[in-house]
Amino acid sequence: MPKPKSKNKPKKNPAISPDNYWEVKQKLAREGKKLFVQKIFADWCKGCGICIAFCPTEVFEKSDSGIPAIKNPDACTGCRFCEFHCPDFALSIHERYPDRRKKKNET
Ligand code: SF4
Ligand code: SF4
Repeated sequence: MPKPKSKNKPKKNPAISPDNYWEVKQKLAREGKKLFVQKIFADWCKGCGICIAFCPTEVFEKSDSGIPAIKNPDACTGCRFCEFHCPDFALSIHERYPDRRKKKNET
């Protein structure tokens, strides 16, 4: 006998791809969420792991070289903890501005 479907399953955010970018962006905007970009300057990073250990949403993971790899960019809340605590100023966090980019491409 098949199991009855649960009505209370939590909804997951769909993964962002070029195909569904605007759909997901609009959904997040409706929910009042913002998206952020994480930039790592690998030449300055000494691989201390502070950003990996203390990011509350586990955006980073350690790569083979010790430099953080961006695992889950859309989970970033923009708290900038990593940016403020990086001892080598090797990280920067910026809000994504897809609307501005779209307008620029349309003209
Ligand atoms: S800004 Fe905050 S949530 Fe985003 S990567 Fe840095 S520590 Fe993580
Ligand atoms: S906190 Fe800065 S120096 Fe340390 S691993 Fe992260 S980016 Fe590299």
